[in-house]
Amino acid sequence: MTYEPFEYRGDELCCEAVPLARIASEVGTPVYVYSRGELERAYRAFDAALEGIPHRVCYAVKANSSLGILAVLVRLGAGADIVSGGELVRWLKAGGDAGKVVFSGVGKTERELRMALDAGIGAFNVESAEEVDVLDRVARGAGVRARIALRVNPDVDPQTHPYISTGLKQNKFGVAMGEARALLGRAQKLAGLEVVGVDCHIGSQLTKTSPFTDAIARLVSLVQALTGDGIRIEHVDVGGGLGIDYGKGDGLPPTPAEYGAAVRDALAPLTALGVTLYTEPGRVIVGRAGALVTQVLYRKRNEAKHFTIVDAAMNDLTRPALYGSFHPMKPVARPGRPAITTDVVGPICETGDFFARDRELPELAPGELLWIGAAGAYGSAMASNYNTRPRAPEVLVAGDRYTVIRDRETYEQLLAGERVG
Ligand SMILES: *Cc1c(COP(=O)(O)O)cnc(C)c1O
Repeated sequence: MTYEPFEYRGDELCCEAVPLARIASEVGTPVYVYSRGELERAYRAFDAALEGIPHRVCYAVKANSSLGILAVLVRLGAGADIVSGGELVRWLKAGGDAGKVVFSGVGKTERELRMALDAGIGAFNVESAEEVDVLDRVARGAGVRARIALRVNPDVDPQTHPYISTGLKQNKFGVAMGEARALLGRAQKLAGLEVVGVDCHIGSQLTKTSPFTDAIARLVSLVQALTGDGIRIEHVDVGGGLGIDYGKGDGLPPTPAEYGAAVRDALAPLTALGVTLYTEPGRVIVGRAGALVTQVLYRKRNEAKHFTIVDAAMNDLTRPALYGSFHPMKPVARPGRPAITTDVVGPICETGDFFARDRELPELAPGELLWIGAAGAYGSAMASNYNTRPRAPEVLVAGDRYTVIRDRETYEQLLAGERVG
């Protein structure tokens, strides 16, 4: 049974029990709307799928880093996977536990490493031999030992969009499997470091379990070899990447339960060694909890096409422009009307500024509202100010109430920090 956080009540599309039209009229458009119930359900489902093996769920903050979203996950007991000092600041501000943080990324600066050491994070996912040495020096300077996991590149094809494939040998992430053992042997001897884990993350929006299990099989052999070398591995971090259904109708990704069962089997050889499983899910936690609600400004038809021009743009939701992604769409009122074929586009001066091409949708008149679904992950988090557009507000719904968790940006905020010369 799938829970649907955005459903029609009569002719009106609601988030939980709140009509989206009410939010649009009170907060304005474009606006991001999230269902707290769906966020909680998705987190619990993922966590429950790993029940029975010692594990930690480190939510990938980059998927949606709004404080109001992080605070919900903090209350559920989540850890965090961060990729910058700024994300650490957000996580701590949301009340998150530093000890449950892992810090990933190929280009952590010394300042970020120091910040994370001072905060007392759980582990660094180190991605290169040079980073090993810099972190050792920074940690000794701070008089502490940094706990590290080495991110390896398992060289498996995640069969996803090339921009979000990260575990192939031509990608910039991690160190080659063949170098990992020697590098960890060396790291183990450094006074500023304590080797505690191995890590990988092979890509995002994966729709099969086999790339995960192939990658885990490689981590398992590495951990077995390290154990033979006398290096005790406390945790194996298998990254994030589980896909969600964007409603395109081209097959469903594995459920968290299917994913959990596959991961559990693949990791079985290590369970006896008392290894803890870490995961870094982002999209699968927040993706379906969020939607972008936008208002139609104009319609037009030329010889080739019908266009629906809306007040949201690629600066608000970049995924279609960046990856050609599909997002489901529905009219916020009266869904039962006959459909036309239309391109849904924004006001930005780029042909890439589109949300859908040749989509079947009821014809929406100026002033009507459109729901763009499955926008909770990599939506607001990737928003920009391109075309000097203030970023959209964000609203968190719980039952029949909602909270504005982020105000619409003002022109003053947008220009703050700039000067004429
Ligand atoms: C982006 C990222 C994730 C989260 O990926 P999802 O596809 O959103 O689950 C996890 N770990 C790392 C290192 C990442 O870069």
